[in-house]
Amino acid sequence: MSGVILVSGGAGYIGSHTVLALRERGREVLVLDDLSEGHEAALLGAPLARGSMMDQGFVRGVFRENEISAVFHFAARCYVGESVTDPGKYYRHNVVGTMNLLDAMVETGVKRFVLSSTCATYGEPERIPITEDLPQNPINPYGATKLIDEWMLRDYHRAHGIESVALRYFNAAGADPEGRLGEDHDPETHLIPLVLDAAEGRRDSLTVFGEDYPTPDGTCIRDYVHVTDLAEAHVLALLAMEEGGVGTRHYNLGNAAGTSVLEVIRAVEEVTGKKVPYVVGPRRPGDPPRLVGSAAKIEAELGWKPRFGDIRTIVETAHRWHTSHPDGFPPNS
Ligand code: UDP
Repeated sequence: MSGVILVSGGAGYIGSHTVLALRERGREVLVLDDLSEGHEAALLGAPLARGSMMDQGFVRGVFRENEISAVFHFAARCYVGESVTDPGKYYRHNVVGTMNLLDAMVETGVKRFVLSSTCATYGEPERIPITEDLPQNPINPYGATKLIDEWMLRDYHRAHGIESVALRYFNAAGADPEGRLGEDHDPETHLIPLVLDAAEGRRDSLTVFGEDYPTPDGTCIRDYVHVTDLAEAHVLALLAMEEGGVGTRHYNLGNAAGTSVLEVIRAVEEVTGKKVPYVVGPRRPGDPPRLVGSAAKIEAELGWKPRFGDIRTIVETAHRWHTSHPDGFPPNS
């Protein structure tokens, strides 16, 4: 299949794992990233158009100068807590940024789009595991901006024939099983790397955000999904779009397995053989008690099957990455 796959945010965590998956299948990719949060080293040599999605002229130029056949859109702000305290940042990056890409697609006739969406669009779901037909009522600005992105995709499909697959990730975690890539955020806010840091003494202790939730052990339950499995789902979405007739689709990417914060701590203790020092703090605003996703739809329609689904494998791959890269990726040039 000819044409370049444009990967916005391809120097970031899930984006870089997906770039690797595409290149391993012989696909030509171009990463669009301003490296504000991404890492040049995570590109593993993939070509980069360095600039911001917020810069409409730059985005247009990238589309005009390249034979783009599909867009994978990862570049976004993705912290629930920060989205509550700084919503404007989220609406600018996650809504305006997406619109800039879609408008450039309309101008240049590119018709295929894969969106990094999120389980945060469901808010506090009325049923667990969450299926795609449940109402979407986000309870934080991060989820709201991604829901707006999904609406834009529906409307750009009707108006301009852009086909899309929105992948609603549950909690991305783990690292490339071959150790080439991993998670490196600054500051890190995600649970698994923070628990690993606490176990290894890279931080004094972990704060558990609330133990008075209506869950069996009182801590929040999430559905952790391996980043390599997420990357594979993007490849399957692309193949489906290349076959045609996708329209506008939405799929959950979860393992239908809920893991509480205390269970994550226990898994890290088992994998590392070390005690995790932690204290219990207040709830973090915007956190629903329980998010667990059914991926039955993408399994049935695209044949997605997570290979690294269990929490132990997820923690093991993350642990290997953090042990071999205690300072993360080298700095950008
Ligand atoms: N969490 C926690 N302490 C931390 C970071 C996260 O207790 O230092 C909890 C958080 O409240 C949530 C879960 O761990 O219930 C996963 O949080 P994370 O930020 O990794 O992902 P999110 O669910 O926000 O996408």
